[in-house]
Amino acid sequence: MAYTKHIPKKRILCRELQFVLVLLLGWLAPHSLCAQRVSIGLYDTCSIQLLRVCPLSAGYKLLLNGKFVEVEKGTELNFSSRGRMLICERAGNEYEPCEHIALVHTDPNAQFELSLLRPQAETRTYDGNLSLFVDFGRIMCLNLVDQEAYIAGVALAEVGAKAKPELYKAQALLIRTYLMGNRAKHLEEGFNLCDQVHCQAYKGSASKYPYIRQATQQTAGMVVVDAEGNLITSVFHANCGGQTASARDVWMTETPYLQSVKDPYCRRSRGANWKKTVSLNDWKRFLQSKGVSTERINNTGYLYRSETREGMYELPGGIAVPFRDLREYFNLKSAWFNVAVDGGEVLLSGRGYGHGIGMCQEGAIRMAEEGKTAAEIINFYFRGARIVKQQ
Ligand SMILES: [Zn+2]
Ligand SMILES: [Zn+2]
Repeated sequence: MAYTKHIPKKRILCRELQFVLVLLLGWLAPHSLCAQRVSIGLYDTCSIQLLRVCPLSAGYKLLLNGKFVEVEKGTELNFSSRGRMLICERAGNEYEPCEHIALVHTDPNAQFELSLLRPQAETRTYDGNLSLFVDFGRIMCLNLVDQEAYIAGVALAEVGAKAKPELYKAQALLIRTYLMGNRAKHLEEGFNLCDQVHCQAYKGSASKYPYIRQATQQTAGMVVVDAEGNLITSVFHANCGGQTASARDVWMTETPYLQSVKDPYCRRSRGANWKKTVSLNDWKRFLQSKGVSTERINNTGYLYRSETREGMYELPGGIAVPFRDLREYFNLKSAWFNVAVDGGEVLLSGRGYGHGIGMCQEGAIRMAEEGKTAAEIINFYFRGARIVKQQ
């Protein structure tokens, strides 16, 4: 789901702790009839040392060493670690150290605030429950949250608060499809998904914007599948620049519903164009690393212009290098760009932002503004895919 790929260090939980978490959180029951909950690893790229939690709803309880302790609304709880143990401090008093602490509420709409103090980060509001433990010297924070509340939260993090309902619906279908297909992604670390773009960006509750939850809720239970009925790879990106990329050109996998489509909707958006300069020497050095004999190419040989998105950067002598490799190496916004040479510099002028596969978010925002439905948006970017009620 990401523009950039971050692979976190694998952490393997001991079996007993996994067992406790499973018992406590019950999140390994995807087909249960009760409201679905998911467990999200918060601030997954941070080494959390100190944090503050404050219930915003009455009725929360702390679970410490098997005992429940009432926590009033507005109470500040500070958490730090000592070895493998968690220390919870409340109004200057410390509780007995615990391996695992949970903040629980029976109402999935109950909310708490979480502030990272070391390292510091903005305060965020979350729905549901919180589970804490220490793992390799960092405090792990897991948010056990109602699935639909999570989906609305991701929709907010991904497209902001100003989009049209049909866009939130389209986005929710893709977020849910991703969740269904990737519930086990962080299983070894003790949760379902992380809150980073490695999985799906999630910055807490969308409850401040009830219209987002209303829109995403209208797609509850629905996912996007391919012609065979399998969940699609529900990818999206910021801006395709006017033409999406095929999975074949970027990932080298033929996927019938991830073909390149011309997108007239995103061309006027902010992210549609970019420029970057690279030194000619660096350009040559990279091409050499790909087996190109640059001594046989003069400067005009590097020029490239295309009105359509292409998979390969073709050079004289029948040699070609994938645009995705150039994008990755030179950290370019997209893999669709023209190449010009000026003296010792290579001038790149590109279109779009992101890998370009699947739904173009800025194009989809515009489609919704023009009155297109969520189904029309999905069908435009994922040709031949179908929206179905989950089994
Ligand atoms: Zn992840
Ligand atoms: Zn686009």
